Amino acid sequence: MDAKRDQPLRGVKRLVVKIGSSLIASRDHGLNHALLEALAQEMADLKRRGYEIVIVSSGAILSGLEKLGIKTRPKSLPVKQAAAAVGQSRLIWAYEKAFEAHGLKVAQVLLTQDDLADRKRFLNSRNTLTTLLGLDVIPVINENDTVVVEEIRFVDNDNLAGLVTHLIDAQLLVILSDVEGLFTDDPRRHPEAVLIPVVTKINAETERLAKDTATPEGIGGMRSKVLAARTVAGYGVPTVVAGGRRAGVLSKILKGNSIGTLFLPEGGKRNSRKQWIAFTSRTKGRLWLDAGAVEALATKGKSLLPSGIVRVEGRFEAGDAVSCMDPRGREAAKGLVNYSSDDLAKIRGAKTGEIAGILGHKDYDEAIHRDNLVIL
Ligand code: GLU
Repeated sequence: MDAKRDQPLRGVKRLVVKIGSSLIASRDHGLNHALLEALAQEMADLKRRGYEIVIVSSGAILSGLEKLGIKTRPKSLPVKQAAAAVGQSRLIWAYEKAFEAHGLKVAQVLLTQDDLADRKRFLNSRNTLTTLLGLDVIPVINENDTVVVEEIRFVDNDNLAGLVTHLIDAQLLVILSDVEGLFTDDPRRHPEAVLIPVVTKINAETERLAKDTATPEGIGGMRSKVLAARTVAGYGVPTVVAGGRRAGVLSKILKGNSIGTLFLPEGGKRNSRKQWIAFTSRTKGRLWLDAGAVEALATKGKSLLPSGIVRVEGRFEAGDAVSCMDPRGREAAKGLVNYSSDDLAKIRGAKTGEIAGILGHKDYDEAIHRDNLVIL
């Protein structure tokens, strides 16, 4: 056991296991049933030991392509979506069979980014997932590939798995893939590269190490895993990226064995609503702030007042999420606005006492209340 690794994993009860496309499927051979069965066996053992597991599984598109006999990588989104529709039923059926062998039930859950960006649907999905866990069912989540269009895609399932970790308040994210973790260089091209066992803080250097190592079949590559780990670290939750073909990989990780790369969480867990604002909500516009307002938000924990807003960009309603930009064009904060873009455009720069006179009403002093504001 490795003390540095054991500590952050202590007390984990609920975990998200992300299973990558290149691990369990290929265009030529479809799903790798033997591997799926081995992973199901492992997860069944964990469940018996009291762990709650939610799976995020890729593999629908590759499985569909194999079934359809499409030998080349499709470029067009509709072909990928059609393949996903064919492959998703095969994928879930494979999980169904693999877990049935251990007397366990699975549920198919297909999500789009829109579902999680909308607070009501986010809460609804959370209720469904926790109800499934309460019923002792293992949810198997994938992106609803057939309905998504480019703008509302999760981009990749690593990102989806990160958001699901927050959605169900899991204490650990495990990303199983065909790479063993984060290396000091791309191990496929540099055999001398060594595995980094623990990443304490994800910074520009970590992201550089993870420069895109996506294989032709893998969607995300290491970069998307590191980005997901960064998001999850911000929730105060650790991530382990590890090779999914190792026997007993999950139990070894949970025991604190040195397998794959462990990304440590950041301190100071935000509450769930703020997490959602920071990572999941989709912004509808931007408020450009003056330096004084940025300072008041960032260092004094203040709400954003209309007087600190210099410019309003985009169209949004009260309650929508917006980005707050500092004078140098960096996103300083995100929050839910109390006023629409039309109203804010009228009262930007105005003092609190002037709002009612300008709008004919004043519902709030703040443009964004600090309870609905997250500093980035
Ligand atoms: N949803 C895609 C599939 O099931 C995979 C996307 C990804 O792995 O990032 O094939």
